[in-house]
Amino acid sequence: MLIDVHGHIGRIIPDRREFIDVTNLIAKMDAWGIDKTCVLPLSEHPEGAYLECDTEDIITACSKFPDRLIPFCLIDPRYGNRPDIDLSHLFEEYVARGCKGLGELLPKMDFDDPRCLNLYRQAGKFKLPVLFDMQDRPDGYGLRDDYGLPKLEYALKECPETIFIGHGPTFWAEISKNVPINERSGYPKGPIEPGGAVPRLLRTYPNLYADISAGSGYNAITRDPSFGIEFLDEFQDKILFGTDSCARSDIKEMNRIVAYIRHLRKEKKLSESALEKIEYKNCLRIISISPVY
Ligand SMILES: [Zn+2]
Repeated sequence: MLIDVHGHIGRIIPDRREFIDVTNLIAKMDAWGIDKTCVLPLSEHPEGAYLECDTEDIITACSKFPDRLIPFCLIDPRYGNRPDIDLSHLFEEYVARGCKGLGELLPKMDFDDPRCLNLYRQAGKFKLPVLFDMQDRPDGYGLRDDYGLPKLEYALKECPETIFIGHGPTFWAEISKNVPINERSGYPKGPIEPGGAVPRLLRTYPNLYADISAGSGYNAITRDPSFGIEFLDEFQDKILFGTDSCARSDIKEMNRIVAYIRHLRKEKKLSESALEKIEYKNCLRIISISPVY
């Protein structure tokens, strides 16, 4: 069983020529051996609006393949523009319609903005994990944090009932200590220096998880191969497999994260039980769906 915690439909690549419809998503899953995918909306945020896929689109798409696709919902933290606004009516509707998580959360806001904390808290009340993208640059999209991720740490403490799933270049750059400042929003290469914020926070806070999707996750776990395997082993209860595949044409090649997981199994780099947790068991546990599928 393989569950992708991070899938998309819509026109996602920058030139917008390729539309990933639900049929193409299923074809990619079949080609790569993925049983189920969590499908994440993006366009509730103005920063993601060009991606043209909101919660309604996701729910409609997932309803066509209910045994393969798991819908997530998205709410912009600026909705109502108050740090105490009650979002229950939205969460109640989305949960009733089958949504199992909140994300991909990527507004250009500070991670500990009171409006974000309000959203995290209420997502936790409805048992929806929050999958976020973090990119510490002034433009574009993605939540912001300072060196060492103190704002994420504040949110983890303030919202103990909320499960957070870390994703994105800045989150994954902080797997290492002493990240060069000019590489915090990129894909740093080479050996990882122990003592990074991500291992420290994963060790300390039971409500933090991480998805290894996209160039950022893949880079973090492969740039220093032996560190990457030790990292996956230590945090085998908190790591989630994902692809973040954003192009229709991705189907032409085997997905590199799927290939990496298969390589770990073939070479016996991780135990079978650790691999199963990363491949699907952790995901099933935190999105509260039955493992009987
Ligand atoms: Zn994504």
